[in-house]
Amino acid sequence: MPDLGQLEEDIVTANRILADHNVVDSFGHVAVRHPDNPARFLMSRARAPACIELDDIMEFTLDGKVVGREPGKPYSERFIHGAIFEARPEILAVVHNHSPNVVPFSVVKTQCFCAIMHMAAPIGRDVPNWDIRDKFGDATNLLVTNMDMARDLAKSLGSRTVALMRGHGCVVVGRSLREVVFTSIYTEINAQMLGKALALGEVTYLSDGEIAANTKGRAGFTLERGWENWCRSVGRPYHPRAMDTGPGFSRTDN
Ligand SMILES: [Zn+2]
Repeated sequence: MPDLGQLEEDIVTANRILADHNVVDSFGHVAVRHPDNPARFLMSRARAPACIELDDIMEFTLDGKVVGREPGKPYSERFIHGAIFEARPEILAVVHNHSPNVVPFSVVKTQCFCAIMHMAAPIGRDVPNWDIRDKFGDATNLLVTNMDMARDLAKSLGSRTVALMRGHGCVVVGRSLREVVFTSIYTEINAQMLGKALALGEVTYLSDGEIAANTKGRAGFTLERGWENWCRSVGRPYHPRAMDTGPGFSRTDN
């Protein structure tokens, strides 16, 4: 786990990368569990991801209360991150976005949003589609603005990597900031490709075995390769991390 200073730099970089890939626009956010206190998380004040600076980063309790300095208004949907960190101790980073190619799959409930491409394997074959209306009625603005809503969303996500949010966007989780950025980018790419494939004909989705093999191989080396390239694209410094982490490293690299 990187130290706090490095992690805050990485949060800025992650926001810039996600904006550069159209995963977030002026809206959407990324949070990281605090490296020294698992009951806290870090994220920017409410600001467009491409504009975020180091001084914008704030600390929160898992129920979304601000701890310490408050450089600006917090994101109204910060509860999403807290509830997922609360429910999933192994998860260290969460992205919430309105990925433009993903949202259509959230409103066509008969259409499965499943991984069709190896890079997107961690999405899996069983992506839930959480509908805020089911429990909170038709008078919400679809935003997740309290812990009740956020815990309901976290319950729907369960042990999975991605959950769609009907008419809104999705959440993506990871065991590191690099992993969650990687999966978020490939979730948007998978949605672009799946939309095109469905227009062509019957789609072959990845099988459970293929998903398991690819996910196992999603190790340090792969994540670093993406992160280095994306840092360069957005003009942020690249600080290498361990390349040999993850169970799939030696198997996929030899
Ligand atoms: Zn949102």
